[in-house]
Amino acid sequence: MTEITHSYDTFQPTHYDIFIDINRGTKQISGKSVIDGEAQAKDIFIQQKNMEIESVQADGNDVPFEVDNKKEVINITLPKAGETTLAVTYKAPLTDSMMGIYPSYYEVSGEKKELIGTQFETTFARQAFPSVDEPEAKAKFDLAIKFDEKPGETILANMPEVRKENGIHYFDTTVRMSTYLIAFAFGDLQSKQTTTKSGVKVGVFSTKAHEPKELDFALDIAKRSIEFYEDFYQTPYPLPHSWQLALPDFSAGAMENWGLVTYREAYLLLDPDNTALDTKQLVATVISHELAHQWFGDLVTMKWWDDLWLNESFANMMEYVAIDAIEPDWNVWELFQTTDVPAALQRDATDGVQSVHVNVEDPAEIDALFDSAIVYAKGARMLVMMRALVGDDALREGLKNYFAAHKYANAKGSDLWDAVGEAAGMDVASIMNTWLEQPGYPIVHARVVDGDLKISQQQFFIGDGKEVGRQWKIPLNSNYDVAPKIFGDKEVDLGNYEELRKSNGVPFRVNVGNNSHFIVRYDDTLMNDIMENLDTVDSISQMAILQDVRLLSESRQISYADVVPLLKHFADNKSTVVNSAIYRFAYNLRKFITPNTDEEKNLKKLYNNLSAKQLERLGWSQKSGETIDDQLTRPSILNAALYAENPDALKSAHELFENNKDNLASLPADIRIFVLRNEVKNYGNEVLFDNLLEQYRQSTDPSYKSDLCVAITSTKDARLIAKLIEKFEDADTIKPQDLRAWFSGVLNNADGEQAAWDWLRNDWKWLEDTVGGDMEFTTYITVAMSVFRTPERLKEFKAFFEPKINTPGLTREISMDISIIESRVGLILDEKDDVNAAIKNVVG
Ligand SMILES: [Zn+2]
Repeated sequence: MTEITHSYDTFQPTHYDIFIDINRGTKQISGKSVIDGEAQAKDIFIQQKNMEIESVQADGNDVPFEVDNKKEVINITLPKAGETTLAVTYKAPLTDSMMGIYPSYYEVSGEKKELIGTQFETTFARQAFPSVDEPEAKAKFDLAIKFDEKPGETILANMPEVRKENGIHYFDTTVRMSTYLIAFAFGDLQSKQTTTKSGVKVGVFSTKAHEPKELDFALDIAKRSIEFYEDFYQTPYPLPHSWQLALPDFSAGAMENWGLVTYREAYLLLDPDNTALDTKQLVATVISHELAHQWFGDLVTMKWWDDLWLNESFANMMEYVAIDAIEPDWNVWELFQTTDVPAALQRDATDGVQSVHVNVEDPAEIDALFDSAIVYAKGARMLVMMRALVGDDALREGLKNYFAAHKYANAKGSDLWDAVGEAAGMDVASIMNTWLEQPGYPIVHARVVDGDLKISQQQFFIGDGKEVGRQWKIPLNSNYDVAPKIFGDKEVDLGNYEELRKSNGVPFRVNVGNNSHFIVRYDDTLMNDIMENLDTVDSISQMAILQDVRLLSESRQISYADVVPLLKHFADNKSTVVNSAIYRFAYNLRKFITPNTDEEKNLKKLYNNLSAKQLERLGWSQKSGETIDDQLTRPSILNAALYAENPDALKSAHELFENNKDNLASLPADIRIFVLRNEVKNYGNEVLFDNLLEQYRQSTDPSYKSDLCVAITSTKDARLIAKLIEKFEDADTIKPQDLRAWFSGVLNNADGEQAAWDWLRNDWKWLEDTVGGDMEFTTYITVAMSVFRTPERLKEFKAFFEPKINTPGLTREISMDISIIESRVGLILDEKDDVNAAIKNVVG
């Protein structure tokens, strides 16, 4: 007999009556969970975590129970199987872990305040009320909440409040839903509200530490996103309201609780009068992501966590579909190309990476599933590829049927493929499963052999990789009709190249649009043809060429040194995506140089050669009528010019600082980060350091705070770095949710690397206790991996992390990161001299 691991297999709930009493003063929760359901046997178990269980009754009578804290369950023995009403009374602590029910801390004009909120995904509803805490266990919920209430406080939940009696707030019965989507929050809140065309109430809520105008942007995007989805999905928004709430302490980016979406303040609130376009785009896509989930994830939910991708990959695609529809001028798909696409291609090339679909049971392993580059970015790219294949009409038709068939219930990945496949009249499942179930992705080789144009596929690796014969069904998107639409073979011969070239009139290319998850290696004949006709190639394709040569260099199939001379051909391009690809490649060159040497001087010259003309063209301030591309390219150029120590750039940055030093926050948001960082780096002192750190503490503008973090962490002064690291564990200055950015900033600073690495190793236990339960925890390891490039650091990294390799949730990250640093160290050792010679050669 196999062991039953899912609570749902023992008890199937239909309805909950939950009462929770929360006392902020004593940090105690007490409550009662009454659950109607069907026991599948006499012995059942339901979930709890960190609770003191006072009593368990079945149909009004006490029954024997036993708490198993390791498995996070209560084992209960019932008199009989069948319909049962369970009643569990309990006590639990209110902890600061940003999981379960937890307080957020903030200040309004010097007064310390608290806001209570919840975070139940993945397995933390069981910290708030005993339950069958699994996505399949959908039920209806009646929620009643009492708290040490003060006048003027607001309470919010998934559903509207229906009455208040004896200080208890009662909320309307929910629709059938999963426990991880339950949410509530209370405190001293402000809000702005509106109504969609179809009558859904939409609201944005925040603490009163923010100016009311900071809520406006989110309200507009939320309203229009819901209207868009109601139309696109052809399925009405299922609840009476959609509240968006910014929480001062929040571990993830945002959470799609049904009807009460919670966000990090940085992903919801912004100053409409001074926020950079890329920040607006980011906030808009986070909101549209969470609202996409209100259907896809909330209305129809994955059956088990192994299909997490079904929620996240889909929402990650839809965030772009929605924003592209409501803000078409933004070209937001370009943001997808410059963020998600490179992240997916980089991580998915490492042997040992997870596939998008992964089997999983242990709660700690469930959190480790949230590999953003795979489950979000690669998954989204996989669905973008499908969307391109079937077209929007079939996708919408399929989704409509999918929602109709599975609403208020659960689904598996195959249900989605079936629905879309049927609408498209195509075997979508057999194509998509090659991407879903296999880790990694292919490289397509295109070459001319004995006069014939041939293409072949093989798995692409950066670093050591074991070739096990994986093959994919690749949507090729070639500009030559003779190429197959879906390339599933190992190799195919497309016929005589010269004839094909003549009849098509343009260079041969595949993955036009860069929407399929593979990279291309053209042989010299084909690549020279493309480079000679570069002006006929659109900007996404130019970006893709740079993207592919960068990855090929990382994998050592070509040499970095051979790519260096190509950069100049792209340097005067006005497109954001091309510039982003140039500087991503140029940034990769930094690992080959030793600081404060002639090598560094040459690389800076190269940066200057690439950016000087663009700096002149774009300058530091927006011109009226300039394009979106100009707005979005300026930061890349300024960043490059300052790295290059271009005298004009340095002078302008310092002048801008001097002219605005009494009100730095009012510097234009798109250039502010560069002005501040330049000042700290080149004119920094303790007075400036203290002043900026104090502004960080006082400011409530998330984008200004993020700029200050980058500036402060770039100090070269060892004493100030030590002072800063002391602040890492002072939550009044740096909130635990923001600490990773500070750690990353100091570690990326050559003068701070040692101190930051020492801190991580010495205070690992503190870090584990503070953010260990959090799904972002492993990314501290990723940050260290991303910086380290010497044999010494590799040795230290291994010495520290290898003993931790069996920690649940860390295993994959540690072993992947060791192999990534190993391959980087090898690459630098072998190619350093050639790369520096190539740089020297192009800068003359
Ligand atoms: Zn999501």
